Amino acid sequence: MTQDSSKKPMDAIMALCKRRGFIYQASEIYGGINGFWDYGPMGAQLKKNLRDAWWQDMILRPCWGRNGPNGKPVRNVGLETCIIQHPKVWEASGHLAGFADPMRKCAGCGHFVRADQLWDTIVTASEWFASVIQEFDPAPEGTQTPRLNAERLMKWARTKGKRLAPNLALVRNPEVTLSWLVTRVNGQPESPPEIIEIVRHLATEQLNVTGLQDPCPRCGAVLGEPAPFKLMFETFAGLTQTEDNKVYLRPETAQGVFVQFKNVADTTRIKMPFGIGNTGRSFRNEITPRNFTFRSREFEQAELEFFCHPDESLDWYKFWRDFRMEWWKEIGLAGENLILREHEKDELSHYSQGTSDVEYRFPFTSPGFGELEGIAHRGNYDLTQHQKVSGAKLDFFDTDRGEILPNGGKKGERYLPHCIEPAAGLDRGALALICEGYTRDDSRASPEFLKLHPRIAPVKAAVFPLVAKDGMPEVAEKLHAELSDKFWKLGGVEMDEKQSIGKRYARMDEIGTPFCITIDGDTMAVQTVTVRDRDTATQQKVSLDKVGAFLSEKLGV
Ligand code: ATP
Repeated sequence: MTQDSSKKPMDAIMALCKRRGFIYQASEIYGGINGFWDYGPMGAQLKKNLRDAWWQDMILRPCWGRNGPNGKPVRNVGLETCIIQHPKVWEASGHLAGFADPMRKCAGCGHFVRADQLWDTIVTASEWFASVIQEFDPAPEGTQTPRLNAERLMKWARTKGKRLAPNLALVRNPEVTLSWLVTRVNGQPESPPEIIEIVRHLATEQLNVTGLQDPCPRCGAVLGEPAPFKLMFETFAGLTQTEDNKVYLRPETAQGVFVQFKNVADTTRIKMPFGIGNTGRSFRNEITPRNFTFRSREFEQAELEFFCHPDESLDWYKFWRDFRMEWWKEIGLAGENLILREHEKDELSHYSQGTSDVEYRFPFTSPGFGELEGIAHRGNYDLTQHQKVSGAKLDFFDTDRGEILPNGGKKGERYLPHCIEPAAGLDRGALALICEGYTRDDSRASPEFLKLHPRIAPVKAAVFPLVAKDGMPEVAEKLHAELSDKFWKLGGVEMDEKQSIGKRYARMDEIGTPFCITIDGDTMAVQTVTVRDRDTATQQKVSLDKVGAFLSEKLGV
């Protein structure tokens, strides 16, 4: 049974991360820097294990060797591209234009709205606005302002409103909001408010405290102040710090793949359909970095761009969406804390035929969920854009398609492939695994422990001599050397001879070590060791010469 993550205390999880060397605040001795985090010895290894698992299951042996929807094995290759690219890359991708305007961020759903287009967006494109306005009675003759129909609005708030605008004050607290509105709208027939004011009333709960504020066109929550928002960090390449030399730190790894698509296709023997994977640091100057590492300004992504024929793209979209959900489950996220959320039609970009998010219920998002990975059908939008801005031809000549020629070969078909993009965040992934693994059981001597999947656990096993005498340290050292030789590539095996055995168990439990092996009196007498299981705290005897084989089996390696 998975434990509901909403019951897990985030402050205890963060304290454990610091105490046991998983995550530290960046530049901590200078007071820290908002939105930046460093990984300590345990965290660095955990994140490496996660990155390796991604690379192994996506690039080296894609989808655990299973076939794609075309009935053939999935083919992917790796790529490593620069953080700094030609500035035109960001012009083509839309990042430069998209984030240079005064933006307002929604405190509820994180949606950005162009400040200068807010009311246009609300009136023309907001689903909840269109819906709620129908619940008003028409404006009396000679006036502009519709009349409030409290009964219908109350009904709307309790039904449709919950889906369309969960953060609107009218939905969260209909009684209070409606009583204000009745007084303001119906009570002053001589100076009726404008429609904009009514909508602000619908959004804002404690009017006397907060005043009227603008609502998010998407969810109805109050919008933040407009800020000239540039998402991308800027710097200069070259000696002179002029506009001509301005470059950007990438906000995503995906664009590096699109601009190298042609090179990869031309210099490898890969055939369509195929994917190109890219992992690495991305940078976003987030307005409000928050929730520990969940929203940082520097973070790591693992993205795959999977290219295919347009006719096959929907099948591949569904395939990747389902596989990515399965993958997160396989490495340790399961049960009700993990969901796959298919975007509504109105959430999709104009070029997308489908987007889903793998979302995890973090303690700080609970009862809601936070995105771990987005799987997007991007059509041929990115290749089209780069083709247009760079002038390079990025189409693909597929020799496996087209009519059959007299010689038995195919005529071939030239097309711009469609792309399916599973884009995961490794920091959010690591945090989700830590939150999911965090378990408290006050009946145990070491009440806090991390139930990490053995593949992800930073330390696979620990060897303890029960006491520092009677030949036990020597046997422990020998076993430790033997196990280290066997498992070092997976993150290693530790040896600990300090403090009481209980404290040593507690430390290993807190860093998520699946097994502890104690050299004790029985080892010296009958050559057996005591192996303790992290999750059950049960102990069993294993023959000294079989410990390696025992661990291989249990760790699945
Ligand atoms: P959000 O809506 O939460 O800002 P996004 O939809 O902009 O995320 P994508 O552009 O799809 O995110 O990026 C892919 C993945 O990169 C996300 O699913 C997430 O795991 C990770 N990611 C994005 N922004 C951040 C961030 N500021 N900090 C940590 N991880 C991030």
